[in-house]
Amino acid sequence: MTESPFPMLPVSQALEIVLQHTSPGMPVHLPLREASGLILADDVVANEPLPPFPASVKDGYAVVADDGPGTYPVVGSVTAGQVAEFEVKPGTVAYITTGAPIPSGADAVIMVEETQPVDNQPASQQSVQQVEILTQVQTGSDIRPIGIDVQRGEQILAADQRLYAAEIGLLATAGVTQVPVFGKPKVAILSTGDELVEPDQPMGPGQIRDSNRSMLMAAIGEAGGQVIDLGIGQDERADLERRIRRGLDEADILITSGGVSMGDLDLLKGLLDETGQIHFGRIRMKPGKPLTFATAQVGGRKRLIFGLPGNPVSSLVTFYLFVVPALRKMAGWPNPLLNRIQAHLGQPLPLDAFRPEYHRSTVTWDAALNNGRGGYLAISTGSQASSRLLSMRTANALLELPQQEGVLPAGSIVTALQIGDLFT
Ligand code: AMP
Ligand code: MG
Repeated sequence: MTESPFPMLPVSQALEIVLQHTSPGMPVHLPLREASGLILADDVVANEPLPPFPASVKDGYAVVADDGPGTYPVVGSVTAGQVAEFEVKPGTVAYITTGAPIPSGADAVIMVEETQPVDNQPASQQSVQQVEILTQVQTGSDIRPIGIDVQRGEQILAADQRLYAAEIGLLATAGVTQVPVFGKPKVAILSTGDELVEPDQPMGPGQIRDSNRSMLMAAIGEAGGQVIDLGIGQDERADLERRIRRGLDEADILITSGGVSMGDLDLLKGLLDETGQIHFGRIRMKPGKPLTFATAQVGGRKRLIFGLPGNPVSSLVTFYLFVVPALRKMAGWPNPLLNRIQAHLGQPLPLDAFRPEYHRSTVTWDAALNNGRGGYLAISTGSQASSRLLSMRTANALLELPQQEGVLPAGSIVTALQIGDLFT
């Protein structure tokens, strides 16, 4: 029997090795518009208060609160973006809009719904000369004092925070237009195999289309990486070597697909051994057993190399389990691991006695589970053959099934590793 020389590592141990060899990239400053989805590398403090001036909360009239209800002359108007050049003396009021600075002298705002113009049919609210104030309000009513939303010197964002829409809005508020972030790791992707043709090319005898490269490019983008395309490499040392060299020169992470199994033309492990250092070459998991991980020192920096198996499902599953956490760690994520949820099996699933299985499934919220308290329900995507990419279609979770004889009954609680959105 021809045996692989590589010991078969458990998934957890292999992932630990990958993360040990991965460090966050150097922080950079990027324009605000390019920072969405990235991890902030520094705390951000507001240098000005918000609002920077006492501002009206409502459209209405700036008043002296003590004046109380009654009819008053309107001495002016101030709209958002302007500053009043007049004063609101006791016994007078001023028209004001939401967000406008409170004119000096006024100490409260009365919303327009609590007022009544005395003039006959004014052309606009700003042309009202006399207005009746219908209610009594407290001093400070409907005024946002300086700094009520953000104080000067307040920390508005902390390092390690991922920048979503609200955080981008806060950065804009604070005038931070060059944002300290961890940039997107560069990830080079190489397909290998004499049988592969580009998806837009005619297929000759014995050929198939290269699905993995397009798929993994999409996955790299979704995981927050920047793609470098190394094309399709032939099962031939010189061609592979040339493409690998380019990948290592240009990228932080090099991904290859195919050529890591036990066949005569599976050249990758040998090449990686010569190029760098192989840390593991076999994993106790199904699918994805021949996954190979190596590192190489290029230009004073450590590059990560993942030799993914060629079967489309194996390549994508191992990408999620190993490349995504590495990519996230490089991109500064404080916790780079895939999210784990507990799910109820929707049907019985056969187990593998020799390897834990990462069973592709669609997980959705089911309000009826747990006696009506709700829970996640996992439905299998069907036949789990590692060549059958249809088993990844609509899959948003990999069920971590134990290495065990027999069948896991429907209703069992399993750990699901989240690989997509939980609404489908
Ligand atoms: P390998 O790991 O190179 O032995 O490939 C395993 C299986 O996956 C073979 O059936 C290959 O034809 C197939 N395969 C390898 N690379 C790709 C690819 N990029 N796209 C689609 N199928 C592939
Ligand atoms: Mg091959």
